[in-house]
Formats: sequence, structure tokens, C-alpha cells
Amino acid sequence: MIVAKFGGSSLVGAAEYLRVADIIRQNNIPVVIVSAPGGDPKVTDLLIAAYREWERCGKCDKTFAVVAERFDRIASALGIKAEAKLSAVREDINAGCGFDYAVSRGEYIGAYLLAELLGYEFADAKEYVKLTLDGKIDFDSVKAHVKGMGMPCVIPGFYGKMPNGKVKLLPRGGSDISAAAIASALDAEYRKWTNVDGVFDGHGSVIEKMSYDEAELLCSFGATVLQSEAVPLIKRTGVKLTIGNTFSSARGTVISDEAADGYALSRAQMFLGGDEAAAHADEIINEGLKIRASATVLGKTQMLIDGCGFSPLALKRILHYSDISPVSVTAVIGKNPSLDGEGDLFWRGSVGSLYIKLNQSVGR
Ligand code: ASP
Repeated sequence: MIVAKFGGSSLVGAAEYLRVADIIRQNNIPVVIVSAPGGDPKVTDLLIAAYREWERCGKCDKTFAVVAERFDRIASALGIKAEAKLSAVREDINAGCGFDYAVSRGEYIGAYLLAELLGYEFADAKEYVKLTLDGKIDFDSVKAHVKGMGMPCVIPGFYGKMPNGKVKLLPRGGSDISAAAIASALDAEYRKWTNVDGVFDGHGSVIEKMSYDEAELLCSFGATVLQSEAVPLIKRTGVKLTIGNTFSSARGTVISDEAADGYALSRAQMFLGGDEAAAHADEIINEGLKIRASATVLGKTQMLIDGCGFSPLALKRILHYSDISPVSVTAVIGKNPSLDGEGDLFWRGSVGSLYIKLNQSVGR
């Protein structure tokens, strides 16, 4: 069975809704999780602003009108009526429904529209995405509840219900967590549709296969292609995740328990560039890592650091000493890092995340 998730960038307007509906029908997908419409600004950010307006003035009407207009435009182009749902949400916010409930309504109305468009059931996340009081997925409870879920259905992402009956938001980007939890609970395959072709390597090509551990490492550096709390959920149950593009037919990146060819996390080497890093060699050694070699390439000191299972924290600290800025480095899996290969030593700037080169041949 396939559980699919479509992010906000795949649901910006009516044209995108129609495209998503086609993908769902073509792939015969029985369970769909959606984010609130994206775009600039995202509907979620507009709802946050509407809530702030309510806090300031006791009414959210001015900002909520912008939210309503966004949804109205989509709904009327698709021939769906949304006015009653939208005014109910405005009234709920004005009546003091609380932040989490207010902000969750972007996913709620977005999922309702897609369910209507497809003729699928609307399955409210509060019935299935059960959370603990500290807002974490209560997996056993999710598992027990999804058993009774009617299909095919569309489920709003990003929120769930706590044992006290209250709706609670997941962290930003949390529809990924909702989808990972539901896919795991149903023992299904998880397909995540977004606006990029997958996870890119440092040479600009899509990485076809990644292990869960690699995906976790990538997330710990702030990669936005996956929500970090989603990975442990799929890892625990061995759910296969494919990240693909709503707007292209690229094959995407598959994340599973199969390691990417030739790479592993257990024992790793990494290159660290920059004179700042060299100046802090002592601290790096104090992190329990060894500097195996260093060389100057194109006027920059490059160090080959050798360690056993770098922890994300150690890597973060090391990067802190380096003049490689994690915000300007992209995900990288390099091939056989070597001190003289220029291509291996330079990281492309783009998505704001760093993926350290790993070479499993070291020490194996
Ligand atoms: N709409 C929420 C956000 O903007 C959740 C999500 O997109 O998954 O963060």
C-alpha cells in the first residue's frame, strides 16, 4: 500500500491541486496526507499572523480575509464550496480556540478541498494522529486507530490530538511526521512528493539510494527535504520512503535500510576545509577524532579527519571551527574522497544543509 504526502509547494493553487489529483489517481493511492497550501506567504504563516492579530485586537478578521481569499480562489476554480468552513474557522479563532487549533486549519481546509476534488473521504488527523502530552507521536495509539480508517482518504498533516482532547501542532514541516507515522502504522510504503527531484549530491545529481542513518545525518544539519522527526519513525518499522517531484517524472531518492552504494556511517572519513579549521586542530582532536593528513589545496588547508561513527554533534562542533558555513553548503555524498581531487573537496552552495562525505572502505 502507498501512503503519499504532498507538501505545500505542490498545493499552491488550483492548477497544482489538479496535478496532485492526477498523480493520486494514476498511482491508485489510498491514503494521502497534505500540507497547507504553500506559496509566498505560506497559508500556515498567514494563519499565524491571523492568530497574532486576534491576540492584539480580539479579532483576526483582517488577516483571515487573506487566508479565506487564498482558499476561495482554489475552491472556486475547482467548483468546491468552502465559505462555510472558512467562516467557521474565523469564528473559532475569534472565540479564542487557541494557537495550535487556529494554525492547524490550513491543513484541515486544504485536505477537505482535495478530498472533495477526488471524491475521497476526509479523515481528520485528530482521530488518527495521536500524540502524547508533549506533542510526540504515540505510535501504538496511531497504529490502533488507523485500523478503522476508511479509505481512500485524505488526511490533514501537521497536527494531531493529545490525550486531553486538544489539537496540537507538530513542528514546522510536520506533515512529514504525520505521513511517516501513518505509513509506519499501516506498514505501507511512503511516497513524498515535493518540488525537487530528490536529495542532491555535491555534483548536482540526485542520490538514488540513501540509508536511514544517512538521512538522519542529513537532517541533523538542517536539510529541509525531510523533517528530522520523520526519519526515526520510518527507520523503526523499515518503511521505504521515496522522495520525488510533483512536477517531474524523475525517479527520486529512495531511503531504506539498504545503504547507498559504497558508503556507510559506521566508520567514516571526512574532509574539512579552511584555515580556521586548521587553527582549531586541537579542539578537533579533543572531540576524539584524528587528523590523518592535511594539505593545502588552492590556497586552503584541507584536513582529512578520521573517526569512528561521527556523531552529528561532533560534526556540528567541527564545522563551527571551520570556515565552511553550514548555511552555504549543500548535501554531499562524494566518491572516494582524496586530497588531490578538486571535485571532491568543494561543496556546492544551495539548500542550507551539509552532508559529509563518507567512505566505507576506511578501516573495514
Ligand atoms: N504547513 C506546515 C508548515 O508550513 C506544515 C507542513 O508544511 O508540513 O510548516
